[in-house]
Amino acid sequence: METQQAIFNQIDMFKQEMVDVLKQLIHVSAIGPESSGEGETQKADVLMKILSHVGFDGIERYDAVDSRVPSGKRPNIVAYYQGETDANRLWIVSHLDVVPSGEETLWKIARPFEATVKDDCVFGRGSEDNGQSLVASVFAIKALKDLNIKPKRTIALAFVSDEEQGSAMGIQHLIGKGVFRKGDLVLVPDGGSPTGDFIEIIEKSILWFKVTTVGKQTHGSLPNKGLNAHRIGMQVALALDEMLHAKYGKKDYYFTEPLSTFEPTKKEKNVDAVNIIPGEDVFYFDCRILPNYDVEKVWGDIKSLVADFEAKTEAKITIELLQKQATPPFVDGNSEVVSLLKLAIKRVRGLEAKVGGIGGGTCAAFFRKIGIPAVVWSTIDEVAHQPDEYARISNLVEDAKVFALLSTLQRESR
Ligand SMILES: [Zn+2]
Repeated sequence: METQQAIFNQIDMFKQEMVDVLKQLIHVSAIGPESSGEGETQKADVLMKILSHVGFDGIERYDAVDSRVPSGKRPNIVAYYQGETDANRLWIVSHLDVVPSGEETLWKIARPFEATVKDDCVFGRGSEDNGQSLVASVFAIKALKDLNIKPKRTIALAFVSDEEQGSAMGIQHLIGKGVFRKGDLVLVPDGGSPTGDFIEIIEKSILWFKVTTVGKQTHGSLPNKGLNAHRIGMQVALALDEMLHAKYGKKDYYFTEPLSTFEPTKKEKNVDAVNIIPGEDVFYFDCRILPNYDVEKVWGDIKSLVADFEAKTEAKITIELLQKQATPPFVDGNSEVVSLLKLAIKRVRGLEAKVGGIGGGTCAAFFRKIGIPAVVWSTIDEVAHQPDEYARISNLVEDAKVFALLSTLQRESR
């Protein structure tokens, strides 16, 4: 209990420093090449400097080669702090990359990369997703180090790239390098709830796809001389939307969003003038499917609907799969990582946390796939990817306490 209080006090003292570091990281945006960004290298350089002052026992780099970004690499950093045992290490995994700001005029309170502080909030793209947790994990270790507390088990922080676009250059790369071991405990603080009482142990399947419709461009006044790809594209999108919702409409209340979701999202720009009938149309869907549905079957239905449309119109309609991930095995609610995290949350926040499912798409899925139990938890208002994204300073501080305390806990022998 004395140790616990010391940790809490130490982290309270770091409050301003944590805010400053978070602001520093927001300033160096880290956007992936898919969204015309330069990647995470600059942010990784800033982070490496910050990490060098903490006193880790080891810092390693596992950069992935990527010719699409100017630096030619996508950085992945691992930092270790030695515990009483090096078996079954505790990992806290956060990601460096952020999504683009989106339409800047929609940002009413702050500019996306200026890191504005107002009351309890730090505004900026990447503040909640995933800056808050990243900074909290660093200062959790700093508190242990400064207090000379040896954690029960080695605690390791992983800072990965490419989380927003499928993780091939990020956590998947790191897993491929054999960095993680069976028996490790993994916390991915990249999802959660505003009160901090929700631990995610299962997620939906993910299906992302792109549909390209090619017709024939012509003058706006002479539609019969061409083929309006935009109209056909919209019809396809709407038909997909209706079919998917009708056919896969079951609810599962274990999930915070109990329905499968099928959303038309990105839309590529077509023509430059109002009086041109577009010859090409491109739209995207983001689908998050409940585990009791077979994602292969959903994908098959999507492809056949698109094929039907192509057969009955003159247009050429192609569909491209961008991501397909069936729900990985879920984590046992009684597993060690869940019980220890529940205990830490109770000690810091006085809450009984519950377990459940979310829309998914975090790094946790890749661990579950290889049989390493990974849970998703953090305290956030869930404003990721939105204009005026922010992180609460109080959550930054309290979550750091949970991370630090977690490493000092051991499952009571039963
Ligand atoms: Zn995230």
